[in-house]
Amino acid sequence: MKIPTIHLLPAKEKAIKRGHPWVFSGALDKHSVKPGEWAELCDHNGRFLALGFVEPGSIAFKIAAREIFTPEELIRFRIEKAIEFRRKAGLLNKKENEIIRLFFAEGDGLPGLVVDAYGKHCVVQFHSRAVFFYRHLIAEILADQGFPNVFSKSKESLHDKGIEDSYLLGGKQEDVFLENGLKFKVDWELGQKTGFFIDQRENRRLLGTMSEGKKVLNAFSYTGGFSIYALAGGASEVVSLDSSAKAIALANENASINGFESKHSGIIQDAFEYLKDMPTDFDVVVLDPPAFAKSQRVTHNAVQAYKRINSMAMEKMTAGSQLLSFSCSQHISRELFTSTLRAAAIDCGRSVRLVQHLQQPVDHPSNLVHPEGEYLKGLWLQVD
Ligand code: SAH
Repeated sequence: MKIPTIHLLPAKEKAIKRGHPWVFSGALDKHSVKPGEWAELCDHNGRFLALGFVEPGSIAFKIAAREIFTPEELIRFRIEKAIEFRRKAGLLNKKENEIIRLFFAEGDGLPGLVVDAYGKHCVVQFHSRAVFFYRHLIAEILADQGFPNVFSKSKESLHDKGIEDSYLLGGKQEDVFLENGLKFKVDWELGQKTGFFIDQRENRRLLGTMSEGKKVLNAFSYTGGFSIYALAGGASEVVSLDSSAKAIALANENASINGFESKHSGIIQDAFEYLKDMPTDFDVVVLDPPAFAKSQRVTHNAVQAYKRINSMAMEKMTAGSQLLSFSCSQHISRELFTSTLRAAAIDCGRSVRLVQHLQQPVDHPSNLVHPEGEYLKGLWLQVD
């Protein structure tokens, strides 16, 4: 396949030379390459800069390599490197942990590709047509690496109702997997995203260490990830709260397959409603809402929503209780999130201590010059 060339406008290569993988439409010379197609990016004088692909919207080109590669060679190289990185980090072949993110887009050098592994299954989320084009090659590479069952979950991420979520290779062999020794039933076919929020693994472990004898609220619980760790850590009672009935049904099932159903209850309700009148005897509260700021434009509303839920929770938590509060909005910086929670504490008149900043785990690396990749921000706070 002949790869077309796109030129930058004069004096636009500065940002690209800093290493950021995104090129805005205003930097590109006129071209006729369609979104979803691969292209070579050259400077105004025709010097090769990068291989990448055209995207719809204002981020008009995404860089996948700064060396000369074919897309096929590059995809294989990037996936093998990502798996090697995780192997060296000690994440692969662990009996007690079968759930890991195998590939994280820009953080692993290929925008548009996310791969999560559940045992011998991979769930692939394509965020770009250009990468989706190579889905069968990607499935073969994953199978060569020991993952013979590959499911594409991309209808939502590609915003295309014409794309069916389907197995590219193999099928579902099992549906219960271990994370840090705890059992989770994962439904990647019908569940949210790739079926499980792997990015909270280490924060869930932290919750387990502070739950002994405590009454714990897990708000925005999804399938009860945090709840199961709290129960395993000896919590006296755990409430999982989510507006999705399907998520709560799975949270109840997860509590039961781990042997904790007597200490767990699931509530299907809007969290904003629940937090307004929540009980005042929780010792530990987790707030892990969905990304309130899906774009820069709605950042202000998102900040207000983060402030509201945190202020409502802090107001009613017992003295000396712990709050683990998160934002997974790419558009909310850590500074902004911290100052939002500061405002929430002031608003409800509680004295709150910052114990520790929390973040995404090592299987979600980000390119240092692409801070957008550091999307998960958390604060461990003590409410006095
Ligand atoms: N903490 C979870 C992941 C949370 S994802 C884990 O570790 O697995 C965010 C969840 O918030 C989703 O399950 C979604 O159904 C839920 N949600 C979204 N809006 C909500 C609302 N207004 N009230 C309650 N839950 C909500």
